[in-house]
Amino acid sequence: MKKSSRLTSVARRHKDAEHTMLHIKNLEAGYGKVQVLHGISMDVPKGKVVTLIGSNGAGKTTTMRAISGMIKPTAGEISLHGKRVDGLESYAIAKQGLAHSPEGRRVFATMTVTDNLILGAFPRLTGSRPKGDVPGDLERAMELFPRLKERRNQLAGTLSGGEQQMLAMARAVMLNPEIVLLDEPSMGLAPILVEEVFRIIGDLKSRGVTMLLVEQFAAAALKVADYGYVLENGRIVVHGEASKLRDDPAVKAAYLGGGH
Ligand code: ATP
Repeated sequence: MKKSSRLTSVARRHKDAEHTMLHIKNLEAGYGKVQVLHGISMDVPKGKVVTLIGSNGAGKTTTMRAISGMIKPTAGEISLHGKRVDGLESYAIAKQGLAHSPEGRRVFATMTVTDNLILGAFPRLTGSRPKGDVPGDLERAMELFPRLKERRNQLAGTLSGGEQQMLAMARAVMLNPEIVLLDEPSMGLAPILVEEVFRIIGDLKSRGVTMLLVEQFAAAALKVADYGYVLENGRIVVHGEASKLRDDPAVKAAYLGGGH
């Protein structure tokens, strides 16, 4: 009896691991002596879009950096597909299929758009994951981001800010990732490009790409997302189905007012 219930719980854990792409438990991180994250727990199920909402300085970017290995967590667990990745170098985490499109436009300015995109696929060429069809993916990325297609031979440093933002996103997609972390993909973009960014996120979602999204436009983020977490001073204070959070009076008052 005891044995069978143990088996059941092992089976359940397996099943959970299958459905959970990213699992974060009691994560703590910061900069030097300054602790920013005070024990965050979150799950991103496979094929779902999860958004992390919070005011300026709440720790959203720090969470993304800790997940992708840009900073080392000081406590807690991060698992990708049931495998611990906390403490690994960011390159090793990318090889496991986690792509991070960071805040700000981190592109290789002196390389062309095409070369930036090919570089995005690099970690998968050296890892144990399937290498896939890089030229085919390059074509698909160009289709998804028509602005980049028109500028494929242009040096990335000469793109507009918005176009560089798109390139950073497209480069993350080129990893053919298991999960993409998108940190403020619409930051500083003209309204028409913001719409384009959300169209692309919706498109990626419909292709089954798992995403963790941080967005200043919380209402739009909750529209495209399945689930949301609200972060305040480095702690998760509310979480739930995105549709429920959209209707939550406290969430509305704090994050969805004023034209967002
Ligand atoms: P925003 O919406 O303004 O981007 P955020 O929720 O992403 O905010 P973080 O960028 O994670 O917030 O910052 C959380 C805290 O960590 C802030 O108090 C910030 O000043 C601090 N912080 C961020 N980056 C660093 C750094 N490199 N060194 C020291 N402190 C930092």
